[in-house]
Amino acid sequence: MSNYSLGTVEVSLTPMQRFEEFLQSKGKRITQQRRILIDHVFKRHEHFDAEDLIDELSRTNSGQRVSRPTVYRTLRELVDAGLLKQMELGGRSVYEHDYGYPQHDHLHCQKCNKLIEFRSDEFLELRQKVAGEHGFRVTGHRLIISGLCQDCSKVRRRKRPQDLI
Ligand SMILES: [Zn+2]
Ligand SMILES: [Zn+2]
Repeated sequence: MSNYSLGTVEVSLTPMQRFEEFLQSKGKRITQQRRILIDHVFKRHEHFDAEDLIDELSRTNSGQRVSRPTVYRTLRELVDAGLLKQMELGGRSVYEHDYGYPQHDHLHCQKCNKLIEFRSDEFLELRQKVAGEHGFRVTGHRLIISGLCQDCSKVRRRKRPQDLI
């Protein structure tokens, strides 16, 4: 394991239970469509946008369909409930797990849109130091490092000799 690995976080409730509690506090109840969506979203950790999710749900679900408005509304609710985190990347809203998933930052490949996750204690120390100097109380941060991933920069290098021919 590298110094930049994420580690794990223990939680007492499943995402579904936590979301049910959130909806109850708003006087709402969980619907079958929302259940299907949450089951799918929390099966594995991924970075996705609403259209990715609509596409996947239409392919994996032979039974009940999850409507487009429900997907958009539920994603918003999941962010409000602290279950999903939303980030803006090149005009897209990208979502990922927040609840039960360790805090981390990203390297974003501008060519293939890949997101690489990392965690750095040194960076968190720096954050505290800078904030401390300004008497600032930290509640969070967003760090996205832009560039080209290993695969995409390899392709570029391989193409160069051909360009000369
Ligand atoms: Zn790439
Ligand atoms: Zn991530």
